Amino acid sequence: GFSTSHDEQVHARVASSFISEEQALINLEELGDADFDNVVDKGKQRWNEILGRIEVEDDNFDNLRTFYSSFYRSILFPRNFSEVDGAGKIVHYSPYNGKVLPGYMFTDTGFWDTFRSLFPFLNFLFPSENVKMQEGLVNAYKESGFLPEWASPGHRDIMVGNNSASVVADAYLKGLRGYDIETLWEALKHGVNNVHPEVSATGRKGYEYYNKYNYIPNDAGVDQNVARTLEYAYNDWTIYRLGKALNKPQREIDVYAKRATNYKQLYHPKRKLMAGRATDGSFSNSFNPTDWSRDFTEGNSWHYSWSVFHDPQGLIQLMGGRKQFSKLLDSVFIIPGSKGMESRSMIHEMREMQVMDMGQYAHGNQPIQHMVYLYNYAGEPWKTQYWAREIMDKLYAPTPDGYCGDEDNGQTSAWYVFSALGFYPLCPGSNEYVLGSPLFKSVKIELENGKEISINADNNSNENRYVAEVTLNGKKYTKNYLTH
Ligand code: CA
Repeated sequence: GFSTSHDEQVHARVASSFISEEQALINLEELGDADFDNVVDKGKQRWNEILGRIEVEDDNFDNLRTFYSSFYRSILFPRNFSEVDGAGKIVHYSPYNGKVLPGYMFTDTGFWDTFRSLFPFLNFLFPSENVKMQEGLVNAYKESGFLPEWASPGHRDIMVGNNSASVVADAYLKGLRGYDIETLWEALKHGVNNVHPEVSATGRKGYEYYNKYNYIPNDAGVDQNVARTLEYAYNDWTIYRLGKALNKPQREIDVYAKRATNYKQLYHPKRKLMAGRATDGSFSNSFNPTDWSRDFTEGNSWHYSWSVFHDPQGLIQLMGGRKQFSKLLDSVFIIPGSKGMESRSMIHEMREMQVMDMGQYAHGNQPIQHMVYLYNYAGEPWKTQYWAREIMDKLYAPTPDGYCGDEDNGQTSAWYVFSALGFYPLCPGSNEYVLGSPLFKSVKIELENGKEISINADNNSNENRYVAEVTLNGKKYTKNYLTH
């Protein structure tokens, strides 16, 4: 409290530290002599620099507001947990072992959400920041014996998958360097055959079953078994890709290539979707793809059957060819989303899907967010273009209710930023961006390497959302993807 007279203004200078009161006083020096207005100005300038890395022109002002709001949210997380000590060195308080140690530490990100497009966005636009984050992962492994899957600030026991593999592999494969990748490689190899003793979401829960059966059976006492299996298979593929890039011996990485095909184990040939499978290999007779069962994570089979990021062609083959595959994708928007759901215990993701009223399409949660980009692989890019635009228009708005579900540490925002630019990293760990429908007439992107990308879509409008022709550097371009 401050004792003040009428109309008197009080300016307080405040700093905090995770390390100590002394460190908080060092952090306070960051302000220099700046007064309140100076600090506000500096903040504005810095945000303009960062958000100015993408310059967008459009007649629709609301689109600009949604775009820059999403861009802003894409770079709020993960949070830098490190501080600069009195000698000018980067140090951090370890949420893993309680010590103050040298180097970077980042926190507040759930890889289950953010491996999909948030980390690829950082690799695209802010690779030097992700280099620091990768160093933070090295430190997390050294301090806890595991890579985090959901850091907040230490290991948090939520969500599934072993998606740190994707985050580590995508960074390295997109060319990030200057950190200890060999330690991260060791960390990945350790994580695939271990579970954190207290935090079972860290490491690979159910790995014994996964390694033995090539899937996690739904009668083995490990819940969310379909979600886990599909994500582990993709994670294994990213480890394989990284191992290749690091020139690891083929005999060491073959196992990951083999396991990358494990998604096929859970394909229910009659229902043409992914389903839970018992130890004896049987599928349940009562399997219902709209059921938000314990075999999945915050979703159902319609949401998860597409979690084969690394092998769309294999999935297409499995599902009976392009036509059948495309029909199944269409079905997602047609199968009613609300029937019978009231009788079950409602989680907010269910309610959000109902409110969106796009059938089983549940953009308010992450597992399905890459789905519309899969039409490209079935030779129907116009459906990707139609739906990408539809989702941007209907499910994002520059209003307080402008998100259709959990934003989730930048993931749902990064989806929008990529989609509005007109391309999307469907499979992190590959170097491809699949094309969609660019939202703006003109975009300029300033890359860290000094290069600039311009995207022009002259006759673009709400109705004109289809791409008739693409030219790249002045030459006709016939592929439906770009490479990093
Ligand atoms: Ca979520």
